[in-house]
Amino acid sequence: MPKPTSSQLGVATLEDISTLILQSHDLDETLRNIVTLVAKRMRTEVCSIYLLEDDGQTLRLRASKGLSRRAIGKVTMRVGEGLTGLAAEQRKMVSIQEPQSHPRYRYFKETGEERFHSFLGIPLFDRKTPIGVIAIQTKAPRQFSPEETSALSTIGFQVSSIVVNARLLDSIRQKEEETDRFARELEQTRKSLLAETRSPQDLGKKALQGQVAYPGVVSGPAHVLDEKLGFTDIIDEAGVVPAQEQQKLEGALEKTRIQTIFLEKRVAERLSQDDAAIFHTHLMILEDRGVLDKLHRQIEAGHSAPYVVKKVFGEYIDAFKRMEDPYLRERAADMEDIGRRLLANLVGQENHLLQLKSPGILVARELLPSDMAALDHEQIRGIVTEAGEQNSHAVIMAKSLGIPALVGVRGALKEVPPEQNLILDANSGYLYIAPAERVIEEYRRLEEDCSRELHRLEEYRNLPGETSEGERIILRANIGLISDIDVALRNGAEGVGLYRTEFPYMTRGSFPDREEQYQLYRRVVEGFEGQPTTIRTLDIGGDKALPYFSPPREDNPFMGWRSVRVSLDNRDIFRIQIEAILMAGVHGPVKLLFPMISGLEELRACKAVVAEARANLRREGIPFAEEIPLGVMIEVPAAVQMAPQLSLEVEFFALGTNDLIQYMLAADRNNPLVNKYYDPLHPAVLNALAQVAKVARKQEKGLCLCGEMASDPMNFLLLIGMGIREFSMPSPFIPRTKALLQTISAKEARKATKEALTMADSRQIRAYLQKTMKNEG
Ligand code: PEP
Ligand code: MG
Repeated sequence: MPKPTSSQLGVATLEDISTLILQSHDLDETLRNIVTLVAKRMRTEVCSIYLLEDDGQTLRLRASKGLSRRAIGKVTMRVGEGLTGLAAEQRKMVSIQEPQSHPRYRYFKETGEERFHSFLGIPLFDRKTPIGVIAIQTKAPRQFSPEETSALSTIGFQVSSIVVNARLLDSIRQKEEETDRFARELEQTRKSLLAETRSPQDLGKKALQGQVAYPGVVSGPAHVLDEKLGFTDIIDEAGVVPAQEQQKLEGALEKTRIQTIFLEKRVAERLSQDDAAIFHTHLMILEDRGVLDKLHRQIEAGHSAPYVVKKVFGEYIDAFKRMEDPYLRERAADMEDIGRRLLANLVGQENHLLQLKSPGILVARELLPSDMAALDHEQIRGIVTEAGEQNSHAVIMAKSLGIPALVGVRGALKEVPPEQNLILDANSGYLYIAPAERVIEEYRRLEEDCSRELHRLEEYRNLPGETSEGERIILRANIGLISDIDVALRNGAEGVGLYRTEFPYMTRGSFPDREEQYQLYRRVVEGFEGQPTTIRTLDIGGDKALPYFSPPREDNPFMGWRSVRVSLDNRDIFRIQIEAILMAGVHGPVKLLFPMISGLEELRACKAVVAEARANLRREGIPFAEEIPLGVMIEVPAAVQMAPQLSLEVEFFALGTNDLIQYMLAADRNNPLVNKYYDPLHPAVLNALAQVAKVARKQEKGLCLCGEMASDPMNFLLLIGMGIREFSMPSPFIPRTKALLQTISAKEARKATKEALTMADSRQIRAYLQKTMKNEG
């Protein structure tokens, strides 16, 4: 069993500390939770945090796991006094066996620490100023290894920022209390002028909490995806002046046309000319005589411009929705889109997201995959959603683009006005609204610290993934958009293990034709210069919808008509996509992957379409890759059972743990209510994965795990132990996974996995993994 190391503990602890903070209410509770976590992680009997008092000279024991409770808050020492004081004084780590025999040792009887025979203390800093010490102690004399000291330093680094952060929050709360009290006094004394000078604004307005979907710290203005601009809340104002309303309408129409041209251009640059075509249609509608006449006539009849837009576009939407022809029916969505943008411009809220001019933090109730596809990622520094789905595709995409994100932030839309200055701390789970200068400064510093941490990982980007014995592990990228290519290359991905082809089609007006799809895939294949690209055929349905392909309403879409089932029922669309993929295969190594396969019939039906596609291309004399490896996603429990049979008819498997876990455990991957049931370490899941790995090994077939599961270090150890040697993940996770890998011994991982697979519940498995680490020292 490998020892837990700095990066391993650091990465895991970052996430766990975020969770702890969410459960804590104040600094002391946060510290209490942190010491408990660290003692557990470092496998020590004691972990204590001492913080420096305001005098800059006194260290006070603020939290401890392992020392007597009576000592907490009581025991103090001067800087330089005892071993803890020594660490603060020297601003260096102090690591000592048999501390009692050290000349600087000082015994504090309240602590009961005479039982401990080793001491490791690390100073905590706020910038360069010491703010305290984190110390661990063990009963057995123990020489702490370089990995352990480095791990505690990493944790210390995080604890420092949390202490600073928590102190800021405490002071915000204090300020708010002060303000309340003060407001009451004001009431009594009616000295209203004083309020100006003692306003609470000097620290900021508010902090909201959420769950971390992707960590990081960013700041910037809010870009609010405001749903209030819907059609329902516009009322018909009485007494409006028609001439003025006509003028307002003209102005808004002009603005909307310009925006639309801009959108068309941008989508054409970022995706393709064809993706942008939908905006050309929008422009034509905005210039359509019939539409304009209707709008003007209604204003002449005495209605306000916003009401008229709501009424006229509402009628069009209803009319389109009633059409027989599916193409025309789908135009209702275009009418809604245009109507909304026009209304936004009319009521002066120019916050339509697609026109982001500057980088900012996106705030929305929820983000659909199509929103993410249409947004300008370069301008999105962070994402905040009220909805809490951790495994939604929007979150997966935020992860793959490396954008810090907080989900489940209740009240965000109500509290955050457009353009409000925000700080998003997706390490500790806080969103600061209108932060004061002091908070901003703190975070500027933290942002710098975080980017330093990223720099530390940069060295891993171009190194191959290898276990501690040098066994090669391949790390590829999950991508969805053309803009992911750059992110993946920057993170050192070895090609693409999963290209989700549904995303590029979400901003379009209709299904792209073969040539357009080919051009798109070709860009991806050429982008990776000789590295393989696994292209998955359309996986729509579930939570992935195409605006122009409306599936029937289903009570249970994840169990319904989704993915390869839709493709097989729309054979022409399917064949055209496969032809485009085969054509792209001429430009570099491409693999073809079918999603949601549950048995041999579907696989064979897919292969028949491939044969048809080949014959077609041959007949047309179009060059294509003759030898493309075919593979299936193993993401339905039936496919796990069928893996031996499936393996005889494909070249590779892709393990889709996101779906496999939800289907095996009957726990919707997007439903926070059943989050606790969605457990990657469930023995049924682990056994299924091991079974698939065994089949692939025996049959000498490729196996790549491409679910989000691989991004968690604890899971990763077991996956390595199962013999999986290829992973595909959101690319920002690649450097840190390489760092982690260097600390994992494949041999030890194998032993641990073998043992874990005999266990009956995931708690036992987790406990075992921790215990094994402890025993291995
Ligand atoms: C999966 O299910 O694990 C997977 C990778 O596919 P998706 O997340 O696109 O459903
Ligand atoms: Mg899936």
